[in-house]
Amino acid sequence: MSDTTPKAPAQTPPKRLFIKTYGCQMNVYDSERMADVLRPLGYGVTDAPEDADLVVLNTCHIREKASEKVYSELGRIKEMREARTEAGGGRMGVVVAGCVAQAEGEEIMRRAPVVDLVVGPQAYHKLPELIARTARALGERLAADFAPEDKFDALTQARQADGVTAFLTVQEGCDKFCTFCVVPYTRGGEYSRPPADILAEARQLTDQGVREITLLGQNVNAYAGQGGLASLIRALAAIDGLARIRYTTSHPRDMDEALIAAHAEVPELMPYLHLPVQSGSDRILRAMNRQHTAETYLKLIDRVRAARPDLALSGDFIVGFPGETDQDFEATLDLIGTVNHAAAFSFKYSRRPGTPASAMAGQVDEAVKDERLQRLQALISQQQLAFNASQVGRTLPVLFERPGRHAGQILGRSPYLQAVHVDGPQSLIGKIAPVRITASAMNSITGDLAPEAVGAPA
Ligand code: SF4
Repeated sequence: MSDTTPKAPAQTPPKRLFIKTYGCQMNVYDSERMADVLRPLGYGVTDAPEDADLVVLNTCHIREKASEKVYSELGRIKEMREARTEAGGGRMGVVVAGCVAQAEGEEIMRRAPVVDLVVGPQAYHKLPELIARTARALGERLAADFAPEDKFDALTQARQADGVTAFLTVQEGCDKFCTFCVVPYTRGGEYSRPPADILAEARQLTDQGVREITLLGQNVNAYAGQGGLASLIRALAAIDGLARIRYTTSHPRDMDEALIAAHAEVPELMPYLHLPVQSGSDRILRAMNRQHTAETYLKLIDRVRAARPDLALSGDFIVGFPGETDQDFEATLDLIGTVNHAAAFSFKYSRRPGTPASAMAGQVDEAVKDERLQRLQALISQQQLAFNASQVGRTLPVLFERPGRHAGQILGRSPYLQAVHVDGPQSLIGKIAPVRITASAMNSITGDLAPEAVGAPA
């Protein structure tokens, strides 16, 4: 039996990690991997367990009495932890990893309450997530180096009504731990505002003339107020004057049947869904910790479209995630081809300090990312153009929001969130009127007020 510990770097980062490795060379390798995945969370390796903020015992089951050795080590760690707490040195986290953890899981937690986490060899990539969850449960903050203005951290706050449409924050935080994203670390766990507060705010907004509300949340469809997001939408739909409801951003895992049914049954809920998938490759989706596959995503889209056949779909895509091969990227293009989007947002993967993916091997060359992004955006643009063109000849209800750029022009939105340009009176702003679509472009459509609109707008 060897007893190996990865060596401490010359400069010690803010949090100290001590890993004790038992057993074979494979365990030595795994310990190094654990140190790697924890580095983005601010953990640097130390040789001194008594100083450690986090102690990991990477165990081996091969020898007899292996687990007894682990329990006696845990006894020593318990004493160290108590001494450290008494000396005001902060809390010491304790993780048992490796084969003993795999074999004895719950027994370890029962026999040794000093242990915070038990992690089997298949779950090392989840260590940052598990440690963040433990820290959350204990009400602690992680001291990782997160970029403050990260895209995934930016959530528009509810604002005063400044016209016809408004955003209303209903949920914050995230429990999903996608490996490229800082939100679960910076914003903490999912939190939902009480329905009564939201409804009161929505009434205030409609009293000020708002006709359309977009419900916001980092995981808006994880909304956990009574009855979930579907109930909230139904309650909002009953508010006088509120004509349109949208919500963003959703996670595929949280699209439940009630919400899908709301798309079929609540006319105020607009037929537009932003449902990020990020990649079409199951291998990459797993590395991203997305907790869905391409197939489950596509089946979900089928179910939502069965409920609301004219639903316009939008998504988010990341190209060049660490380890993404040409084949993985082609799988993403295939998925986009199958879904057929009305719009989508796409980004080159960029390392977010503090996220697990930032430490992953196989970072993709910038030139390759550029090329993939261009190909993906060309495909999305084709789909968006085709979607806009498919509206020509239809008559759509348009909510007019403001004057257009040209004299006599007014600008509104279709149910599918398309910008619609129309020549018409400003008196229509704040109203919904039927518009016959006559032309389309990449980012907007154009039409004429339908004859009935000129006389009596809604
Ligand atoms: S679902 Fe993923 S991308 Fe979205 S906020 Fe949570 S961790 Fe970030």
